[in-house]
Amino acid sequence: MTKEAFRNLGTIILDGATGSNLMKAGMPRGVCAEKWILDNPHAIVSLQKAYAQSGSHVVYAPTFTASAPYLAQHGLDDQLEEINRDLVALTRSAVGEQVLVAGDMTTVGKPDLSYEYLLEVYTRQANALRDAGVDLYVIETMMGLEETMAALEACTMAADLPVMCSFSVTADGMLYFGGSIYDAAPQLEGFGADAVGINCSCGPDQMAAVVRTLAQSLHIPVIAKPNAGMPAIDDLGNAVYSMGAEEFAQGMLELKAAGASVLGGCCGTDPSYIRALTEKLR
Ligand SMILES: [Zn+2]
Repeated sequence: MTKEAFRNLGTIILDGATGSNLMKAGMPRGVCAEKWILDNPHAIVSLQKAYAQSGSHVVYAPTFTASAPYLAQHGLDDQLEEINRDLVALTRSAVGEQVLVAGDMTTVGKPDLSYEYLLEVYTRQANALRDAGVDLYVIETMMGLEETMAALEACTMAADLPVMCSFSVTADGMLYFGGSIYDAAPQLEGFGADAVGINCSCGPDQMAAVVRTLAQSLHIPVIAKPNAGMPAIDDLGNAVYSMGAEEFAQGMLELKAAGASVLGGCCGTDPSYIRALTEKLR
């Protein structure tokens, strides 16, 4: 898809959570998620099929941590290209040709890495995702501006595809590696990002102020992909998200009114949340 076509899409509905639903489907903690998904393809295929049927225009391929630093922890970094290719193929088989497949990349998780190293990491995955046939890129759950710049540059060099960037932020818009999203977002727009915003972080009810400020300062679409509320931690150490689909969808309508036009769900959401959102937008 071209950048121009992306920017003319109007309101875009993304998918909901992946990780929390794969755990419900039996993915154990601590395993290599990419390998588990490829060994148990039914879990992701049925989840993503449900997102497509619930109204998602864009579904994220489960390539979130299919980058060299994460795969190396499982001794799989030499298979990075095949892993990204096979994961994208699973998503395509689940959603068909009518839904856009986004190649998903995330933070390396450390604040002090050199730009050169980050660019190398993201270039390898961006090239693999391009060769796998993604329609666009999403760089999500980012914690700092520098790593996001490196990922954006990698995507821009790899292919002429739309690039969405979203940060995980505190409720007052601060980035975990320093600085604020208010300073970071216009810089990403200046370097060619096609949409910028927030994912994860908090519930939709706590995101409106940040979204409103971003929408006033940007000329590109604003992304809002919040969690199903703030998590509570249960006795086993699991995050529990308490906001229901209906309340979530209502909160998303308020974020749309605040200026967000790329809407989805993060941790704790599932296809019923996307369906509730789709129905409210009708
Ligand atoms: Zn999340």
